[in-house]
Amino acid sequence: MPVLVMKFGGTSVATLDRIRRAAKRVGVEVAKGYDVIVIVSAMSGKTNELVNLVEETSPLFDAREYDAVVSSGENVTAGLMALTLQEMDVPARSWQGWQVPLRTSSAHSAARIEDIPPDNINAKFAEGMRVAVVAGFQGISPEGRITTLGRGGSDTTAVAFAAAFGAERCDIYTDVDGIYTTDPRIADKARKLDRIAFEEMLELASLGAKVLQTRSVELAMRYNVKLRVLSSFEEQSDAAGTLVCSEEEIMESNVVNGIAYSRDEAKMTLVSVADRPGIAAAIFGPLSDAGVNVDMIVQNISEEGRTDMTFSCPTNQVARAEKALQDAKAAGQINYHDLIADTDVAKVSAVGIGMRSQSGVASKMFRTLSDEGINIKVIATSEIKISVLIDRKYMELAVQSLHDAFELEGAA
Ligand code: ADP
Ligand code: ASP
Ligand code: MG
Repeated sequence: MPVLVMKFGGTSVATLDRIRRAAKRVGVEVAKGYDVIVIVSAMSGKTNELVNLVEETSPLFDAREYDAVVSSGENVTAGLMALTLQEMDVPARSWQGWQVPLRTSSAHSAARIEDIPPDNINAKFAEGMRVAVVAGFQGISPEGRITTLGRGGSDTTAVAFAAAFGAERCDIYTDVDGIYTTDPRIADKARKLDRIAFEEMLELASLGAKVLQTRSVELAMRYNVKLRVLSSFEEQSDAAGTLVCSEEEIMESNVVNGIAYSRDEAKMTLVSVADRPGIAAAIFGPLSDAGVNVDMIVQNISEEGRTDMTFSCPTNQVARAEKALQDAKAAGQINYHDLIADTDVAKVSAVGIGMRSQSGVASKMFRTLSDEGINIKVIATSEIKISVLIDRKYMELAVQSLHDAFELEGAA
């Protein structure tokens, strides 16, 4: 029978009532003749609660134990979803990641999926089971320990299952009815897109649009998975949502198609480091070894052989970054006068594949921000995006004014 993957995010399984609504949707697809793989997230708020417990217990936690704790939310919803389906007389069974097994790398808290042998689940489908409910976000490392795939990782679980089982489609059910030109929660004028290109979605996701985890888009692009984002709240289960597809399947495109933001950025500045060959390696080597994800980097103009080095990283990695740099200083590998962490910043980005062939986007973006009196602290560009780091208090204003400036509201 054809296979369908249906993923339900945290808000879609937040209560027993919502689990029932989701299960009904699954029942509709089963009735159409699909074998369904349902991927579930933890109930909304649960993962945050678990992360807080870990951080309170151990600020620089051992990532193996972090994974042991934070993966548990999904176990509960997988079991509850299977029970709900059984109550509806739909033959269903739950799986935790290790039972599948969903094999991953050993990179705890940010593991990559390596293999999903379909045999266990297929054997059950062959016996008449119609729905395999799989706990999202988790897997098992080569050492046999539980891993997690990074925040928002259930999206990636879903796409990886769709690829492994040759599913007809991967439907991501969430609390908005599709992918918008920007987060509809902070910009009323955000417009729903019928389609978005993989490349653009990939960039938006990696720049903070958490509607899909970056890695899920990467996998969908690589394995050509038909990926759709739609609401689990709308009555009509055939609601179109947004299709993530290849560029060629999109008729019209604007220069800028989306604005993304990330609230969780911190700006770190090493004041007065020696400007010598190898200094960047001496700074960023220890940071990488400590698992800090450095994003933007700026090295200032050097004066009398010394310079300031600024970089950004996620807010929750500031303590880790500080420790790594202090240790490197104590070991004599680097020398700096001061280390300043600014955690009141946010990153705002404009994304569009049209930027490849059109200039003027950067100047329009900078002018728009300057008209609003917003100071830009760091700039980064790539072929299809421009990102700026600004004071967090201006983040929403920046998103809204850029959305206006690039005329995303009325765009085709
Ligand atoms: P789930 O729990 O279902 O995985 P998430 O909270 O991870 O849901 O993702 C959905 C949220 O993503 C929406 O509620 C919305 O606020 C946010 N979001 C950010 N950018 C966008 C965008 N461009 N389009 C749609 N939603 C977006
Ligand atoms: N529950 C996990 C999280 O909140 C995974 C997910 O929902 O995708 O990050
Ligand atoms: Mg999510």
